[in-house]
Amino acid sequence: MKSTRKPPYLDPFQPREIRRLVGEFGSPLLIVDCERIRGQYRELQRALPGVDLHYALKPLPHPAVVRTVLAEGGFLDLATTGEVELVHRMGVDPKLCIHTHPIKRDVDIRSALERGVCVFVADNPDELRKFVPYADRAELLLRVSFRSPGAVSDLSRKFGCDPEALLALARRARDLGIVVRGLSFHVGSQAPDPGKHVEAIEACTRLLTAARRERLGPCDTLDIGGGFPIDYAARAPQIGYFCKPIRAALAKLPKRIRVIAEPGRYIAGPSAIGVASVMGRARREGRWWYYLDDGLYGSFSGQLFDHARYPLESLKKGRHREPAVLAGPTCDSIDVITENILLPELDEGDLLVGRAMGAYTWASASEFNFFPRATVVSVNLEPGDRGSVLAVTEGFGARNA
Ligand SMILES: *Cc1c(COP(=O)(O)O)cnc(C)c1O
Repeated sequence: MKSTRKPPYLDPFQPREIRRLVGEFGSPLLIVDCERIRGQYRELQRALPGVDLHYALKPLPHPAVVRTVLAEGGFLDLATTGEVELVHRMGVDPKLCIHTHPIKRDVDIRSALERGVCVFVADNPDELRKFVPYADRAELLLRVSFRSPGAVSDLSRKFGCDPEALLALARRARDLGIVVRGLSFHVGSQAPDPGKHVEAIEACTRLLTAARRERLGPCDTLDIGGGFPIDYAARAPQIGYFCKPIRAALAKLPKRIRVIAEPGRYIAGPSAIGVASVMGRARREGRWWYYLDDGLYGSFSGQLFDHARYPLESLKKGRHREPAVLAGPTCDSIDVITENILLPELDEGDLLVGRAMGAYTWASASEFNFFPRATVVSVNLEPGDRGSVLAVTEGFGARNA
């Protein structure tokens, strides 16, 4: 009798699979493993029980990631008209989405409402005024700022209203007839510890209670943002441990408050690897320089914009390794990925793999010098898929919105 046992999960990050995918789709690649997306989503959900997770598209706005998160029962965090259009084209229920950019044009608000997205974020009086024409349909989360100089990128400098100014802003919203659904914050990405989240949750608990007492709106939602950290070359705290004080702070919220979060990096980051090939090499000042087909203007743009250092390795293993330089393909002198990595001697066509390259990598890549962005290949689209592949090179994102 034929066995009905399923073959085991096919890990697309194993050398054999990487070589096969490069053989099929070329180089450079970004390989997205949806099985890992599911794993990250479930781990964060376990660490934050009862919290609705809205995947923030910004770090990796890819349909396969969106579909996987929704199939897990998740929600979405959109910030631009391009992202709204992407999920609209995918047929996503707009009720699962919130729009969290604190600064929008009228056309952004109008087109999101036309697509059925009704919850927005604002953090200042001028932005509130933009919602007067839509007060019958739109609801707001007011974004509060909690500075976090320790975070790799302190998002509370660019956005958010001072906690001291929050009630005045909420009163103004009420006077304009705009519904305040609740509060939001984002402590900054790749948070070093949960201290800022805890401080912000405690302050927002007080503010929600005060706003409710003044009847400034339903005030029944708290959005605790993103910032959940992952391992790069430097390790991050384990997520259950990181979220323990956050869970304790959330437990003190009144029961009527719905809590949501906006994880981006935590879902996307560990779920993809970057694969690049050696285009050529040169011996300079006693070292091999290897020129790859991906670099700082491509998927490694995260090294500049996101200050990330990705764990790098060559697929070729050799006992003798020596310090080498890895450079990107463009003619710009800053396009150097690392000046000091121990590698076996590589040849043209040899592959280099960067781990934890799902978030803020391909998303911020350019096509400078006309080197195309990496082809995104997503694998294991359905649970138990064992390696089915969907290749996407282009055809989504702002350009086609
Ligand atoms: C970028 C961003 C996120 C995602 O942050 P991560 O640190 O990647 O989790 C969530 N919310 C907003 C408003 C953002 O701008």
